[in-house]
Amino acid sequence: MLSIFVEASCNRYVRDECRYCHVYAPLSSHIKSNWHMTPEIAETMVEKIRFIEPLNRLAKQEINLTGGEASQNPYIVEIYEVFKTISNNVRLHTNLDINSEKSKRWERLVGITKLKGRIDITLYPTVWESKQKPLLRKIIELQNGLIVNLIYESLGDLLKQINILKFFFKDQNEKKFIPVLGLLDRFNDRLKKIIEGNSECCESDFLDGMGDLENYVSCPGGFIFAVNAIPSFYVNPDGIRDMTSLPFPKDIYKVECTAIRGVIEIMTILQTGEMTPCCDVGNLKCKPKFGNLLADSPEVILKKFGESQKLMTLGASKNIENMKNGRAGEWVDEGIPPFCI
Ligand code: SF4
Repeated sequence: MLSIFVEASCNRYVRDECRYCHVYAPLSSHIKSNWHMTPEIAETMVEKIRFIEPLNRLAKQEINLTGGEASQNPYIVEIYEVFKTISNNVRLHTNLDINSEKSKRWERLVGITKLKGRIDITLYPTVWESKQKPLLRKIIELQNGLIVNLIYESLGDLLKQINILKFFFKDQNEKKFIPVLGLLDRFNDRLKKIIEGNSECCESDFLDGMGDLENYVSCPGGFIFAVNAIPSFYVNPDGIRDMTSLPFPKDIYKVECTAIRGVIEIMTILQTGEMTPCCDVGNLKCKPKFGNLLADSPEVILKKFGESQKLMTLGASKNIENMKNGRAGEWVDEGIPPFCI
């Protein structure tokens, strides 16, 4: 998968539109060009991707347009069309924290579904009733599938979020969603049992308790539903992620990096063109660079892939040694986060 940032994580917008940069008309003279991808930038990226085989392969599997908040980008529909020229599977991830159907952000999402793009969401319980729920109802009418990310701080929090989804699909009162309800019921039952045993269990007990539960189902008519439960992390004021997650604070979260094993399964591309073979570009602060899709030639990028992979392999082996020798948490010279192996 290519995960492409079409927006910086600026957090400066107020729900429906940007207020502090060029998208907001009164401030248009203060252009922050590298905060928002333009269709021209998307075209340059697409032309390069065609010539870089590992990226071309990932693009064909799936392109996920994200950010920052992807629906905030005023050109997102055009950008979607540009990326569609290299992949049949382009989707957009949104927080769906949108005021109403009159919002331009909502109109952009509808525009993408009309072009057969899929919209996926992260559930935010604080804005669920007022913002997300009414619009999600519309989204499942506009498209034939949905992935929901659930970011949870405790097992109780995860259970609440599963129940929010359960009641939502129950409310739709549609036969085609029976498999979705079945999946959410199974999720609910196993999770409840774990919580009754020990609500502050370690991650391996949680995984054992969830067992072989699949996270997706197909419904009659072809609707595909998937739910991803993602533990949240504490991030310190310098923006560095704590290596224990909030729901499982007693366990060090080791990151098994596929790039270290020589397999690139995901590449995150920032709107500036910078690339990292990982979905966590921000808080892990991985140093090896995989080139800049906008600035570097395909040859330079491929060379950097090879060099950085070697560096990561070396750094990861030092990380493993450090963990064995009571030096867990120390940064190695190669710039690989201490628990990436
Ligand atoms: S080493 Fe860690 S931070 Fe770097 S790309 Fe791999 S998983 Fe991401």
